[in-house]
This record gives sequence, C-alpha cells and structure tokens, in this order.
Amino acid sequence: MKGYAMLKIGQSGWIEKERPVCGPMDAICKPLAIAICTSDVHTLWEGAIGERHNMILGHEGCAEVVEVGSMVKDFKPGDRVLVPAITPDWNSLEAQAGYSMHSGGMLAGWKFSNFKDGVFSEFFHVNDADGNLALLPKSINIVDACMLSDMVPTGFHGVELADVQFGDTVLVIGIGPVGLMAVAGCALRGASRIIAVGTRKVCVDAAKKYGAGEFISYKDGPIYKQVLDLTGGKGVDKIVIAGGGVETFAEAVKCLKAGGKIGNVNYLGSGEMVEIPRVEWGVGMGHKMINGGLMPGGRLRMEKLSSLVTGGRLDLAPLSTHVFDGWEHVEEALFLMRDKPADLIKPVVKIEKA
Ligand code: NAD
Ligand code: ZN
Repeated sequence: MKGYAMLKIGQSGWIEKERPVCGPMDAICKPLAIAICTSDVHTLWEGAIGERHNMILGHEGCAEVVEVGSMVKDFKPGDRVLVPAITPDWNSLEAQAGYSMHSGGMLAGWKFSNFKDGVFSEFFHVNDADGNLALLPKSINIVDACMLSDMVPTGFHGVELADVQFGDTVLVIGIGPVGLMAVAGCALRGASRIIAVGTRKVCVDAAKKYGAGEFISYKDGPIYKQVLDLTGGKGVDKIVIAGGGVETFAEAVKCLKAGGKIGNVNYLGSGEMVEIPRVEWGVGMGHKMINGGLMPGGRLRMEKLSSLVTGGRLDLAPLSTHVFDGWEHVEEALFLMRDKPADLIKPVVKIEKA
C-alpha cells in the first residue's frame, strides 16, 4: 500500500509499505477523507517528537472499515466510521485511573503518526476498535467528520480543563481551528463573555460565529495588559490556551483572577521552561490553577461530540476552508498547513470519490 510519510525530520514523500495486520481486537480502515493538523507540521518540520524514519503521517480522518478482528463486536467491514486522533488502550491502568490518553505512558494514547503509521495511507490500523471507533452519522459529511478526530475534542478539552462555568468571562488565546472549537465550547458551556486573541480575518469571522465578542492581538503588545484594560483591571475567570509559545503562560497568569483556571491544549514545540510570575501567581497562594492535557479519544467521546453536530448545536462547516479531491493533493495540503496563508483554517483531502 501507499502512504505519505515523514522520511526524516524536514523531509516527506510517498512510500510503499505492507498493509498493517489486524489483531483480534483491531480494525483495518481505509480513509474516506483526511485532514492536516498543525501537529503534523510540528512533527515533520520541527522534529517536536524526535526523529522518525518512514513513518506515515496523519491522525485526522474518517474512514470505512475493511477488516475487523475476531473479538470485535460492534463494527464490520463496510461501516463508515469516525476515527479519534487518540486511540487509548482501554484496559490499561492509566485508562482505569481516568487518563486514557496516557495509556501505556505519558501521551502514549496518541499512536497515529507518533508510535505507528498514521492515516495518510491507503489502509491504516486501529487498536481496540470497539473502544475507539464510532459510527459516522449519515447527516455528517466526510469533510466535517474529519474535524471530529482532533479539532473538536481538543478545543473542547481546553474548555473542560479551564472548567468554564455559566457566566464566566473567558480568554481564548489563539484562534486557529483548535482555539475556534474552544470558543464554541465556551459558548456551549455558558460563558457570558468570550475574549479571543487573534487577528486573521478568516479566524476572527469564524470566532464571531462561534460566540467570541471581543478581540485582541498579540501583535499589539502584551496580551495581559489588553485584557486588564478590557476588564477594568479585574482580569478573566478562565483562560484556554490554544496558540503561542512557552511565554504565553506568564501572560495568562497575569490576567487571570484569583481562583481562576487555565486550560492549555497548545503543543509546546520548543523552549525549555514555562515560567510562572511569582507575584501575579499570588506569591504561591493565588489559587490560580494551570492544567494542560492531550485530548481524550475513544468511542464515547466521538459519539457525544458528533451528537452536538447531528443535534444542530455545533456547525463545523466554517473550519474546512481548503478542500481537495484525491490522494495526489495530500502534499499540497500539508505544505499549505505549514505555510498558513491568511485565508486558511483547515485543509482537508477527500479520498472517497463523490
Ligand atoms: P494553529 O497554528 O492553526 O493556531 C494557533 C494560532 O495561534 C494561530 O492562528 C497563531 O497565529 C496564533 N498565535 C501564535 N502566537 C500567538 C500568541 N503569542 N498569542 C496568541 N495567539 C498566537 O494551530 P491549531 O491547529 O489551532 O492548534 C493549536 C495548538 O494545539 C497547536 O500547537 C497544536 O499542535 C495543538 N494541538 C494539541 C492537541 C492536544 O490534544 N492537546 C491536539 C491537536 C492540536
Ligand atoms: Zn491533529
């Protein structure tokens, strides 16, 4: 089979590999559509997870099941499925402790294009098919379905980590696709005021649709000063971080109220230390909580999040700004994500012929 792979840090291309083998609890799937992620860019060009040789890229997509193992009960060849980017081992101790995304070790629930070949391939392997796949609802098109692999679960996890409550004033730092889904999640959770950090018109327009009412730019000076100005010096109740670098945390702590919470889902691709300003952290006693997490994956999560789409509570159409047809466009879509033209939110490649 053919797959589009990271050959080594900074180099990618098509390679030929053996079709993966299906274990008793597993499924083999073929993509219906795939999406490119900022994390693919971090992995390939920044070497953020270290060197990988001839590893097929990609962890976002929806698919058709072509083979299932003898113990798989709920899926069969021909089923159209949602595929989460994170596919935990559900019988692990970490999953039993409530952290399935870390099953087998920290971040080890992230298998596609990390520990094993990803989904930019004619066929790909899914561990624990009953625990990780979900049926693709008929009313969700294959482009929107790709947004349920990673963008929706990650953005929404930022909202969970920040513990957004009715009436909260929330700051969302970074409004790429993940930040946009964080904005949508804050609105669904009942935030009264959503301030977003970002300037690209396509992102600002989408953020307004999802519920952000005020915008600031990190290019106009420190974020915290602008947030304090907007809030009469009080700061915000909650912060979701979905963009920026290690330096963003200090800014966030400075404009968070005492008792506030920060939920980070940003992938910190560089920098040694995350610095916390002592005084603004209440000299250690401000009850300002900082949490960061990999998205939870798995079937229940996919079913619940997709029900927001089928129920008309979440519109994913604004995210997929660039849609291509056919495998031959995977490279173009990947390079587009690296170069981030001003009108891009998310590139998607449809594999299934219309
Ligand atoms: P993106 O690059 O499209 O969006 C990030 C946005 O942040 C960009 O629009 C950028 O202009 C903006 N930005 C850059 N510097 C900033 C600053 N100092 N302050 C505010 N905004 C700034 O990326 P994305 O696809 O939306 O993903 C966001 C992050 O989440 C990435 O790092 C990605 O790798 C990570 N991610 C994490 C998980 C997870 O499970 N935790 C899953 C998927 C993606
Ligand atoms: Zn992703």
